[in-house]
Amino acid sequence: MSSLEYEINVLRNLISFNTDSITKKHYKECANYLVKECKSLGMDVTVLDASLESKDNLDRPNVVAKYNANKDKTVALLMHYDVVPPGKGWNKNPFELTIEKDKLFGRGVADDKGNIAVALGALKEAKEKLKYNVVMFLVCDEEVGGEYGAGYVSKNFSDNIDEVLVLDAGNEFVGIGASGVVFGEIKVYGEQGHAGYPFMYRNAIEDLIRLAYHLKDFSLLRAGKISKFDASPISPVKKNFGRFTITMLGGGEKENVIPSEAYLRFDMRLIPEEDVDEAINELKTYLLILSNKLGIKAELNWIRGGGNYYSDPDHASVKKFVKIASQIYGKNLSVGTEFGGNDGRYFANRNIPIISFGLAGRDSNFHGPDEHIHLKDIEKLKKLLVDYLTT
Ligand SMILES: [Zn+2]
Repeated sequence: MSSLEYEINVLRNLISFNTDSITKKHYKECANYLVKECKSLGMDVTVLDASLESKDNLDRPNVVAKYNANKDKTVALLMHYDVVPPGKGWNKNPFELTIEKDKLFGRGVADDKGNIAVALGALKEAKEKLKYNVVMFLVCDEEVGGEYGAGYVSKNFSDNIDEVLVLDAGNEFVGIGASGVVFGEIKVYGEQGHAGYPFMYRNAIEDLIRLAYHLKDFSLLRAGKISKFDASPISPVKKNFGRFTITMLGGGEKENVIPSEAYLRFDMRLIPEEDVDEAINELKTYLLILSNKLGIKAELNWIRGGGNYYSDPDHASVKKFVKIASQIYGKNLSVGTEFGGNDGRYFANRNIPIISFGLAGRDSNFHGPDEHIHLKDIEKLKKLLVDYLTT
């Protein structure tokens, strides 16, 4: 194994900052460290700070680092330095890199700080023989939607880029698109009253339960949306498909009060090529007809989201990436689309290939306790990036 000292060192530093995307308390320190590290590799660095636009007095520094190799084409590497909170169940300190044999533990090692360390290490090794100019977007807020992270960067970065490698994924397949997500809330209305007299009032919770029971069938309708693109190889069926899941229920204020309001929230997943407004309209009409049929007073209180995208699976860059990655990982990697979403969405309007790949393998437990990666995966990803950028 070649020395991974540099990568491990960078990763150790990155893990030490608790860049929780909710509090955002240590964004600035982490971004300052990244600025320093990128400069030491000879990159031109700017910080696009979205805090003026977000107006909530929280830091939103996004690091944009360019390495100009005087080539015709530019590859963008997109990664994020924010993390989800550690949660419970850790056997290690989530904010201190722990190495045991060939495993490295810490919050963010797989998602997504390990990928940043590897990208910097790859540039360090490849910079004298690059076939592309390289720009790195090291952004915040990915775990909370990315509006003031990758979204802000994409809006404020007008230089030409020819392709984006989203290093924020697993290594089971090469991603060229994603499902994105639509969240929303349905509210059901009844009449508030004394629970000793249930025959006098319309109970919003009881109506909600009835509505939710039938609304489950909407997921069958969604499952009929079949993408022309393959899903991840772990999918039970070959093609990506639409999904609808009820994820939250609530209502009521006191045991002896008949509730006048109740709500449910849902998670709706699109197929990569779907029109988001059409999907929302379908849900609206379904809800309208269903609630009329059941005699329930319900409305879609709010709905938002999107972020589904795809790029051309036959693009020469995708083919090149698949070929090199398959050699290095020792298997024929397929091209597919993700069931989740990623920051690549913000660059999808540029009509360039967006390729996602990375360290977050299936067993890495990212977002869970004891998140970890393997040394050999660092080595493989580094070789992949070096080979890709120098051929
Ligand atoms: Zn991530």
